[in-house]
Amino acid sequence: MQYVSTRGAAPKLGFEEAMLAGLARDGGLYVPETWPRMSEAEIAALAGLSYEEAAFRVMRPFIGDAFTDRELEGIIGRAYAGFRHAARVPLRQTGPNDWLLELFHGPTLAFKDVAMQLIGQLFEASLARSGRRITIVGATSGDTGSAAIEAFRGRAGVEVFILFPDGRVSEVQRRQMTTPAEANVHALAIAGDFDDAQARLKDLFNDHAFRDGVGLAGVNSINWARVLAQTVYYFTAAVALGAPHRPVSFTVPTGNFGDVFAGYVARRMGLPIERLVIATNQNDILHRTLETGAHRRAGVRASISPSMDIEVSSNFERLLFELYDREGAAVAGLMGELAGGGFELSQGALGRLRAEFDSARASEEETRAAIAAAWAATGELVCPHTATGLHAARVRRGDPRVPMVVLATAHPAKFPDAVEAATGERPALPGWMADLMARPERVTRVANDVAAIKDVIGRATVGEGAR
Ligand SMILES: *Cc1c(COP(=O)(O)O)cnc(C)c1O
Repeated sequence: MQYVSTRGAAPKLGFEEAMLAGLARDGGLYVPETWPRMSEAEIAALAGLSYEEAAFRVMRPFIGDAFTDRELEGIIGRAYAGFRHAARVPLRQTGPNDWLLELFHGPTLAFKDVAMQLIGQLFEASLARSGRRITIVGATSGDTGSAAIEAFRGRAGVEVFILFPDGRVSEVQRRQMTTPAEANVHALAIAGDFDDAQARLKDLFNDHAFRDGVGLAGVNSINWARVLAQTVYYFTAAVALGAPHRPVSFTVPTGNFGDVFAGYVARRMGLPIERLVIATNQNDILHRTLETGAHRRAGVRASISPSMDIEVSSNFERLLFELYDREGAAVAGLMGELAGGGFELSQGALGRLRAEFDSARASEEETRAAIAAAWAATGELVCPHTATGLHAARVRRGDPRVPMVVLATAHPAKFPDAVEAATGERPALPGWMADLMARPERVTRVANDVAAIKDVIGRATVGEGAR
């Protein structure tokens, strides 16, 4: 399997190189050259398998000869061994034909662990072979950073730097990033919002001398392996609910468009997904794009679902590549316009977008109401991101006979203030994490300036090499 850049001007790479590269050298994102298909019989055969076995079958065709079957089995097994639920990603019924897919049983209590734990193992296997050293830099709206730190803390040959928007993540999120004591972990609080952090990250990758000098590697959802890992749970959930013999719908709380794009990939592979609903919070650029065809920035406003406070949804570029018949030059043109504020989709592209996705926005009030409604109806506390999904699933429900699965993206205890305000009930951290609030923190503040960030990374990695 070869990977091509969405901007059409970078070399094709195999799975391992695309994974280690993160961003392509033309500024684009890597996508598979073709979509592997699973037949109806192959999908049906996933029924009753463990999560790990299903993950192996879904991901195998994308990996080519980068890892042997045995290596891949070992990688997958180690990735999910630390999940605190035997099903890894259990389904929970919330209504007659309504389900929550609980993706938060990993070590940092958000769905980011599903992909990041796998990436940690994939990188380790690859680096052990090559003896290479790498510097991982990530930008986070809260959950990616802690998941990346958890996946790479203490690993040999890896330094991890995470840029998070100072003051804009929840206390639990911040502490998950600032309390690990391993010397290879560096939490950087940037003076800006998530889009600033992500833009500085792209600046680092686009400085090829710096990139090669420190061995920069990316683990944001620009990394194809993240998206791939997330494709698996669409299959396991749909098959548990009767696919491929009946279609299933999904609603996905969306920020950077990685998780919902993974659903699109599952559909391309042959999974019968009826509706794929994009749920946004008040930062609704994606919902507006579906409504109007204009993809235009309006400024990010902080919300009670901070992991979705994003306007520049990186993975939307992967979808644009599809909507524009895989014309890299067209995508590069649109991304240039986005830097100036936005762009208008062609009629053809908009038609295709609307054929693949539905969307809805949840205001702050609607998000709080959805948390309260879930509590009243089922006695479940849900996180505010999940609540935007519950709202969107209700307003875009469609055929009631088709199961609707809402992706539950984080544990409610990651966002206790919002949950308590909506229900009067304060969600508790799981016992195994209860001492988080007492651990000492370690953080470096940085300006929203690429030179300052390079300086911090340069000093830490030079110090590392000299040891
Ligand atoms: C990252 C995140 C999202 C958004 O996912 P994307 O893949 O960025 O669209 C939603 N909810 C939670 C809790 C998250 O951490």
